[in-house]
Amino acid sequence: MAQHYDLIAIGGGSGGLSVVERAARHGARCALIEAARLGGTCVNVGCVPKKVMWYAAHLAHALDDAPGYGFRLDYFGFDWQKLKLARDRLVSDINEWYLGYLAEAGVTLIRGLARFADAHTLAVGGERYSADHIVIATGGRPQVPDVPGARFGITSDGFFELDACPARVAIVGSGYIAVELAGMLHALGAEVTLLVRKDQVLRSFDAMLRQQLLERLREDGITVLTHTQVRAVARLASGALSLHCEGPGSAPNVNAVLWAIGREPNTDALDLPVAGVTLNPNGSIPTDPYQNTNVPGIYAIGDVTERFHLTPVAIAAGRRLADRLFGGQPERHLPYANIPTVVFTHPPIGAVGLTEEEARRQYGDAVRIYQTRFRPMYHAFTVRQPQTVMKLVCIGPEEKIVGCHLIGEGVDEMLQGFAVAIRMGATKRDFDDTVAIHPTSAEELVTMR
Ligand SMILES: Cc1cc2nc3c(=O)[nH]c(=O)nc-3n(C[C@H](O)[C@H](O)[C@H](O)COP(=O)(O)OP(=O)(O)OC[C@H]3O[C@@H](n4cnc5c(N)ncnc54)[C@H](O)[C@@H]3O)c2cc1C
Repeated sequence: MAQHYDLIAIGGGSGGLSVVERAARHGARCALIEAARLGGTCVNVGCVPKKVMWYAAHLAHALDDAPGYGFRLDYFGFDWQKLKLARDRLVSDINEWYLGYLAEAGVTLIRGLARFADAHTLAVGGERYSADHIVIATGGRPQVPDVPGARFGITSDGFFELDACPARVAIVGSGYIAVELAGMLHALGAEVTLLVRKDQVLRSFDAMLRQQLLERLREDGITVLTHTQVRAVARLASGALSLHCEGPGSAPNVNAVLWAIGREPNTDALDLPVAGVTLNPNGSIPTDPYQNTNVPGIYAIGDVTERFHLTPVAIAAGRRLADRLFGGQPERHLPYANIPTVVFTHPPIGAVGLTEEEARRQYGDAVRIYQTRFRPMYHAFTVRQPQTVMKLVCIGPEEKIVGCHLIGEGVDEMLQGFAVAIRMGATKRDFDDTVAIHPTSAEELVTMR
């Protein structure tokens, strides 16, 4: 006989943990099935360890900047191993913390790989578990291309296992993971070549951000080869890796190749046909705005769906689904407009709402753009001189702000508050009427002409 629950979530990442915790607090009897470490991608091989590396890279830049402010420094190098140990400890502390989180909420943790036995029953090892509601929150994994020698490369998962900074690294890809890891490795001492298939990075972002980031990466000393496709990787007798590329430039031999070409959903092990759940051609699970799949009682949230692949999105979708199913809020769901996002490059990027291109497609001549470009005061004395660029996309006679696109020092922490204002329907006039905070970079957003 299967043990029965009100709700079972498959996957103990951002989405699964959030849906069971919220549902349990509403009084539902919940279980969570996890095949690996609690916390999922974000905690183990995503946001958390990545942000640690970003801070380290940020400090490396600060050390470069310090002499401009009068500091005389003796530099004794960077201890990658020490940082890795501290980072791994932080991650395992969070894994541990989640055990308490589930116990406190009264959620049963089931360890193992789940697959469907029927639409309401899951098999894990030799056991069966059934539920009225099953939430698929199995996330995704990095893609590796189908080219000869691909196995010599690593992915973002492998990046977090590196015991030392590779002297020379080729990063293949143009998305946010590719550009973030390129910036970190470069700042921490690697010679980095970024291999991009088309002519730009961050394809879904505003053209201004794409252009500015490409300039910053190159100014910083990262080699960016566009229109370049890797056809094969070979290991040389020296141990180095050589890349056979198609495109105008040629990549140097490197110590590490990092594939950052995208992620694929974890749906193949679930036996979804048994439950009757249909998939998109890329293996992700289609859902309606309420996270329902095509099978009543089966839902999907987070990276396994085709929507924004961000931790707070998976969390918000999970919590709202629980509110809807058990919290007496039948209309509760996550609208996917105005999701703010940050790319942790150096300097960082922040974006919310429509790009200029999207706004022009939707609103034509009703679009008005405000843009400013300046050198932040922090860089008045530094050798590095990265500019900050900010763009507001407004529509209609009232100049409602429908997009905000930022690149520069501090924008990662700046965007959240502006995202609240934009979600509430702020106009350019609202921004203009807000008293500036001086001297900051953020004040430029409320003083644009
Ligand atoms: C390098 C990197 C950096 C990132 N940086 C950021 C960032 O800065 N900010 C941000 O918001 N997002 C970031 N993300 C994205 C973020 O990590 C994901 O959007 C988020 O983790 C998705 O949560 P999820 O619950 O959908 O899936 P996951 O967190 O991937 O969790 C899925 C879980 O399901 C388990 N699982 C899979 N199949 C089964 C099965 N059959 N049975 C049992 N368990 C199973 C897996 O082991 C996993 O633990 C980053 C991702 C990467 C890779």
